[in-house]
Amino acid sequence: MSPRRVLHELEQHERSHGANESTYWLYFELLWRDFFQWVALEQGKRLFRAQGIRSKQKTWRVDPDVIARWQAGETGVDFVDAFMHELNATGWMSNRGRQIVASYFAKELGQDWRIGASYFESTLIDYDVASNYGNWAYQAGVGNDSRDRHFNVSRQQDTYDPTGAFRNMWL
Ligand SMILES: Cc1cc2nc3c(=O)[nH]c(=O)nc-3n(C[C@H](O)[C@H](O)[C@H](O)COP(=O)(O)OP(=O)(O)OC[C@H]3O[C@@H](n4cnc5c(N)ncnc54)[C@H](O)[C@@H]3O)c2cc1C
Repeated sequence: MSPRRVLHELEQHERSHGANESTYWLYFELLWRDFFQWVALEQGKRLFRAQGIRSKQKTWRVDPDVIARWQAGETGVDFVDAFMHELNATGWMSNRGRQIVASYFAKELGQDWRIGASYFESTLIDYDVASNYGNWAYQAGVGNDSRDRHFNVSRQQDTYDPTGAFRNMWL
């Protein structure tokens, strides 16, 4: 199904039933998708450089054991591990989860973000080169985000899984 079709259906739905918060967010997320498609088109192979499209001089580590534990969902950080178990079992993970595990991989573990991105490439059922590498570079601080933000995993867990239901399901 093309994004254009989704947009037309969305507009049709809004005309018939009115706009609401959900229709707004669906439209907004489609803009992100479009944005990363254009970034990939503009940047070409620069998207895959360790220093990213911003030529940020960062030192990335490559520790096979650390990477294997992240992939298997055995980091010891429950929220990260639950998301990785979900990915490994289903080939899917929510956008929130993707942001958290990618930020953890690049910012906490300091591992080369492209290895994390390539793991997503081999596991995601909705893998898309522009969305995947664009989002990964963004989370690693070498993409489009000039603020280079950092996800606090325990705060994310308190906000999005306060009762532990998600962790209980996947751990
Ligand atoms: C590290 C990382 C890697 C990702 N890799 C991919 C990938 O390989 N393929 C992929 O399609 N999406 C990727 N995304 C974007 C996003 O996580 C998924 O598109 C989203 O989880 C799909 O779920 P949904 O259809 O319920 O999204 P909804 O929230 O319902 O959004 C509707 C649509 O908007 C688009 N969209 C939403 N969020 C994003 C986003 N952050 N970037 C780009 N498009 C977005 C998608 O086409 C999505 O189907 C990645 C995000 C991150 C943080």
